Amino acid sequence: MSGSEFGLIQSYFSIPGQSLLAQQDHPDIIQGIGDDCAILSPPADQHLLVSIDTLISGVHFPAQTSPQAVAHKALAVNLSDLAAMGAKPAWFTLALTLPDNNQNWLELFSQSLFKLASEYQIPLIGGDTTRGDLAVTIQIAGYVPPDSALKRSGAQAGDIIALTGALGAAAIGLDIALEQNRAHYQCLSQTRKKAAQLALNYPCPRIREGMIIRQYAHSALDISDGLLADLGHILSASEVGADVFLEYLPLSETLACLKPEQQWEKALTGGDDYELCFTLSEDKWQALKHAYPHFTAIGHITKSRKLRCLTADGKLFELQNRGYNHFD
Ligand code: ADP
Ligand code: MG
Repeated sequence: MSGSEFGLIQSYFSIPGQSLLAQQDHPDIIQGIGDDCAILSPPADQHLLVSIDTLISGVHFPAQTSPQAVAHKALAVNLSDLAAMGAKPAWFTLALTLPDNNQNWLELFSQSLFKLASEYQIPLIGGDTTRGDLAVTIQIAGYVPPDSALKRSGAQAGDIIALTGALGAAAIGLDIALEQNRAHYQCLSQTRKKAAQLALNYPCPRIREGMIIRQYAHSALDISDGLLADLGHILSASEVGADVFLEYLPLSETLACLKPEQQWEKALTGGDDYELCFTLSEDKWQALKHAYPHFTAIGHITKSRKLRCLTADGKLFELQNRGYNHFD
C-alpha cells in the first residue's frame, strides 16, 4: 500500500466512530480495518448470509451520478439482498476503484456511505482501494436464525404474491437521467420528477420488512431487474407459475402521466425499485395484511408453470418487450 492510499483509507474509511460502533454493538467483530484481514466471530446460533454486488460507472449508473448517490446505491442494493432473505445486517467490505484522488468526491462519497451504514447499524470492516475507471464493489453479510432465510425456491401453488411498496418510480428516474421518452413526462411536475430521480439514486432497502416477512413467507426476493423478470426467478426456482392482476399493481404516482398500458409495462419491467416480492399462504396473508396494511397482494402462484398478466376483465396482457421471461 502506498502512503497516499494509506492516508486515503485513514481519512475517509477508517473512521473512529465506525470502529466504536463495531466494538460496542457488534461483539462478532473482533477486528475491523487496519490489518491484512478483519477478524470475525459469528454467533454460533445464527446462519451467516453473504452477498456481493459491483456498480460500474456508465453501466450500473450514469457517469454524471453524484458521489453521494453512488455510495448510497452501492450499499443499498447490497442491503436489499439481505432484506430479500430476511437477514439482519452484520458488516460489509468495500472495494473501490477510483480514476483519481479527488478529495471532494471521496468526502461526499464516504459521508453518504456512513450515513446509510449507521441507519442500518452496519460497520465497514475492510476493503481494497485501487486506481482505474470508477467502480464500487460492496460485499455484505447478515444473520438469520438457522433455516429461516427466505429463499426463491419456496413458493407453493395457491400462495398469494405480495409486494412491499410501489413500482415504476426508479424506471422513470432513469428515463429522466438519460433524457429518454421525454414526451411522456411533460405533464410530470418538478416535484414528481425529483421523486423519480430520488427513487433511482436512493433506493430504500427493505430490511425491516424482510425481517417481518421472514415469519410469514414461503419465498421472497428483491426486485432489481423488474417485477416480471424477478418473479420469474421465484417461479423457476419453485417450479410453479403465477397469475398477476394488473388492476392490483401498486403503481408509483410518478407513472400518472402515462397511459394505463404504459404504466403497467413500466411497473412490470422497470428495474431498480428494490421492493420485496414474496409469496405466502392465504391465511398468513390475512394475518400479515392486518398488521401491515401497506403491503399489496398482486396475484397468486399457480401449478401451470406459466407467468400470466391479466386485465380486470380477464384478458391476457401482452407486453411489447417480452425479452423479460423464459416462460414464453
Ligand atoms: P493489503 O495490501 O494487505 O491488502 P490494503 O492496503 O489493501 O492491505 O488495506 C489496508 C487496510 O485497509 C486493510 O485492513 C483493508 O481492509 C483496509 N482498506 C483498504 N481499502 C479500503 C476501503 N476502500 N474501505 C475500507 N477499508 C479499506
Ligand atoms: Mg489489498
